[in-house]
Amino acid sequence: MSYVDEVLAKVQAKNASEPEFLQAVEEVLESIKPVVEANEELYRKEAILERITEPDRQIKFRVAWVDDNGQAQVNTGYRVQFNNAIGPYKGGLRLHPSVYIGIIKFLGFEQIFKNSLTGLPIGGGKGGSDFDPKGKSDREIMAFCQSFMTELSKYIGADIDVPAGDIGTGAREIGYMFGQYKRIRNSYEGVLTGKGLSFGGSLARTEATGYGLLYITEELIKCHGQEMKGKICVVSGSGNVAIYAIQKAHQLGAKVVTRSDSTGWIYDPEGIDVELLKEIKEVKRARLTEYAAARPGAEYHEGRGVWAIKCDIALPCATQNELQIEDAKALVANGVTAVCEGANMPTTLDATKYLQDNGVLFVPGKAANAGGVVTSALEMSQNSERLSWTFEEVDAKLNQIMVNIYHNIDDAAKRYGKEGDYVAGANIAGFEKVADAMLAQGVC
Ligand code: NDP
Repeated sequence: MSYVDEVLAKVQAKNASEPEFLQAVEEVLESIKPVVEANEELYRKEAILERITEPDRQIKFRVAWVDDNGQAQVNTGYRVQFNNAIGPYKGGLRLHPSVYIGIIKFLGFEQIFKNSLTGLPIGGGKGGSDFDPKGKSDREIMAFCQSFMTELSKYIGADIDVPAGDIGTGAREIGYMFGQYKRIRNSYEGVLTGKGLSFGGSLARTEATGYGLLYITEELIKCHGQEMKGKICVVSGSGNVAIYAIQKAHQLGAKVVTRSDSTGWIYDPEGIDVELLKEIKEVKRARLTEYAAARPGAEYHEGRGVWAIKCDIALPCATQNELQIEDAKALVANGVTAVCEGANMPTTLDATKYLQDNGVLFVPGKAANAGGVVTSALEMSQNSERLSWTFEEVDAKLNQIMVNIYHNIDDAAKRYGKEGDYVAGANIAGFEKVADAMLAQGVC
């Protein structure tokens, strides 16, 4: 049995109740096989694969808070510090009822390779809670965030672990958590990213993941002799990543005709009105039906369906496993050119394979959505030097790093005879750097 297969079997036996984590590990280990085979004796002796698939630590804690009726509520909080071979742990906090340890481990594992691909000194981690922010008052959100941070503050720090936003955690939640950290530790430090602009946040962080997704998509398309101008795009999700992906796609001359949330989706053949979308999601925190009501010509549909719309480029920006095999078949039948993942692991393994086998250019989330963590790392740099850079400066750095990531994963795929396989390229390029650092630092 090969070393990869041996470790995969061990990971499967040990984490049988965590399908999302197993899916992420399987994808990475399968695609780094050529690198592992070239270094098998050393990696096996140093247990590189066993170590990289086992988090440094997993922290699980109770989060007790009081709702507006005076009733005490209890949620579970998590932080998985996965790997800090190349820098302090870095990764977002997800607040969603579906959160359990398997989701946090999959996200933390992916984060190791994503962060490595950025070329910046950041390790992999992730956290969150099964708390559902939907329908909660601002006071309830604050009560939850303060209680969550009261415990989390014991384990994080500017040189230790620097959390950020993710699903359910935006500027409001980061603000409440930062306030609580400062109060408990009496230290004003860059311990969270995605902060408000008046207290250490970076310009362009809000836009970064969506913009970065479009910068890498543009480079991909350009390197295949095409341009964004005139391309029809479908986007899923209506959150932070989706909004700024749609905005940048429009700035580049493409037209985005869909968006969705967990209840339904919108088809707007004239192109999504970003300002209206922002007003509804960021200001009113309202549902998709309000968009359809305000926009004649837009259709609202319940359930899933964006992938059935004919397009040139598909950008899944909602959540894991939202693009499945039947969706991949519909996209291919409709002549899609490229699929670039804004969300983390939104495409199932069989759908990814189907897209790749049918000649679709496919860029995985760990490369395509790295813009968020790139700009978080730039926020950390600004906090360390006590300076704030302009929007243009941050945006230019983001653009350059996304272009570099594309060429880095393209080169890695070519080096191992897998030209055009950006899943392999991303995993290989991300893994090589972390494995080298782990080897240099000894068994720990
Ligand atoms: P938000 O919470 O801002 O938005 C998430 C969007 O996805 C919402 O429209 C939400 O709909 C929808 N959604 C969430 N869960 C489901 C589900 N189970 N089924 C269908 N739709 C769902 O999150 P972000 O935009 O920040 O994150 C989106 C994705 O991008 C996630 O995978 C995240 O990990 C990833 N990502 C985010 C980064 C960032 O900087 N924010 C960085 C890198 C990756 P509803 O409101 O109805 O729940």
